[in-house]
This record gives sequence, C-alpha cells and structure tokens, in this order.
Amino acid sequence: MLVLSSSQEMQQTALRWKREHAIAFVPTMGCLHEGHLRLVRKARTLGKKCVVSIFVNPLQFVKGEDYEKYPRTLEADKERLNELEVDLLFAPTDKEFYRGGFQSEVQVSQLSQHLCGKSRPGHFRGVTTVCLKLFQITQADYAVFGEKDFQQLRVIQQMVLDLNVPLAIIPHEIVREEDGLAMSSRNRYLTPEQRRWAAKIPETVNLVRERAKLNPNVSVESLLELAQRNLTSVPLTIDYVEIASERTLKPEKRSILLSAIEAPHFFVAVKVGSTRLIDNTSLGARS
Ligand code: AMP
Repeated sequence: MLVLSSSQEMQQTALRWKREHAIAFVPTMGCLHEGHLRLVRKARTLGKKCVVSIFVNPLQFVKGEDYEKYPRTLEADKERLNELEVDLLFAPTDKEFYRGGFQSEVQVSQLSQHLCGKSRPGHFRGVTTVCLKLFQITQADYAVFGEKDFQQLRVIQQMVLDLNVPLAIIPHEIVREEDGLAMSSRNRYLTPEQRRWAAKIPETVNLVRERAKLNPNVSVESLLELAQRNLTSVPLTIDYVEIASERTLKPEKRSILLSAIEAPHFFVAVKVGSTRLIDNTSLGARS
C-alpha cells in the first residue's frame, strides 16, 4: 500500500491511475473500526484502485468539541488497510492540507441547517469543504459514505448534484455492534456503564421502526414521545429526536401523521456523559 501525505503527489498519482482505472474512495477520520472496513471492502468492488483517506478535519469540529482528543491510531489503521489490500492511503497533515491563505468554503444551505446542523453550527460546511477538496485530490469515480451519518450522506449527495462533481456517491448501511449500537470511533470514550446505557439508542431506533411498521397512521408526536420515554429510562441527554423526510431533512411538525410524510426517516442524537452519539433509520417502505 502506497502511503502519501502530500496533496500534490496524491493528485498526480490519481491523475495517472485515472487514465486506465476507476478510482473508488473512502474518506475517514481514522481510528478505523469494522464499520469503516466494510466501506473499504465495498469500495474495492467498485473500482480497480482503492484509495482511503485519514484526516481529522479541523474545519468540521465546532468550538468546544473533541478535535484535540479525537483518537488518532495511524499505525494500527495502516495495518488494517494493508490487510484489505488498499492501494493508497492518503494521510495529510493539517498544515499541508490547508496551506496558509486557505479561504474557500462550500455550503449546502438547506440540508445543512437541520438536525445536527442546528446543534453543530458550521459542521457541515467543514464536511462539504473537506470532501470537495478530497474528491479533487483523489480524482475519485466512486466515494462510499456510511448511512450512520445519514445527514452527511444527504448533504454530500446534494453538493455533488449541485456542483456537477463527476463521481457517484455510494451509500453503505449502518454497521452495528452485537447489541445494535452503531459502530463509531467515539464509542471508545464510553465507560463500561455508559456503554450499557448507549445500547438504549439502537433499542429506541428499533422500537420506533417497529411501531411505525405496525401503524403507518401513527402521529409523529406519539413516535417521538415513545423515543423520548425509552431513551430517558437511562441517564443520557437527548440532543434531538426528530422525524423528517429523507428529501428535505426538515423536522416534521408533531401533529402530522407518518403516512403524510414522503420517505420518513427517524433521527436521534444524544450525549452519554460528554460523548455525542447519533443513529437513524428509515420509517418508510424500505425499512
Ligand atoms: P468517520 O471516520 O467517522 O468520519 O467516518 C468515515 C466514514 O465511515 C463515513 O462515511 C461514516 O458514515 C462511515 N461510518 C462510520 N461508522 C459507520 C458505521 N457504524 N456504519 C457505517 N458507516 C460508518
């Protein structure tokens, strides 16, 4: 596996490869777990050349978040990617990636406003900016994104559509631990007790999905109340529980019936201690 930290070298290599091969790309912030690795395996089936990036992007962390303490495990990550026969790991430094004078930003105005965008102002602007830059540098034909970060996936899809970026975004389903908790690099912050409380999140997601399946005429309000009740049976703090259309991500009014929503989707964000965790599920026909 080739390991590059220079954006220029990465782009030159990609431009060379691109003459003959499709390039499949998985952007990550490292501290790789099985969720990331499944995306990488998917990418390997899409393109002849598989590129993974590891970059803890300072632009997408809001003030007071865990940028400094975000886990960085580059050597272990390299070994795992090597085993998967990844062709190239792109792991730039902050300084190299955002050279002095950097001042351009990309914003997907509406989809970025809601849900996590409300709790983390500026977060998605950081995500879209880094992703467009990474797409240019890696010359990717395919980029795989996890549905664990469903809003991120939607925001990136919209950016690619709006700005005619010539690549296909490939979604990947959420990869979960045995008890259902969505795998996340941040799960390692949890104490064993908090880890048990966190299992309430996937339990709640399943409960809401099952209730919606049983009764499509249920109101948003009764589903959200069910979610709130279930989540708060353990000591975690709800940031938000919402139901929104996958198309707009705009939280629906509580009085509306689920059956009136196009492609309804349930979203949850909580804090367990100081660790912020998210989950989501479709409540539509595909659930
Ligand atoms: P991150 O390193 O957290 O920025 O994640 C990099 C990519 O992996 C993103 O597309 C995430 O959505 C995806 N990802 C992270 N955890 C999971 C998971 N448990 N299941 C599916 N995709 C995931």
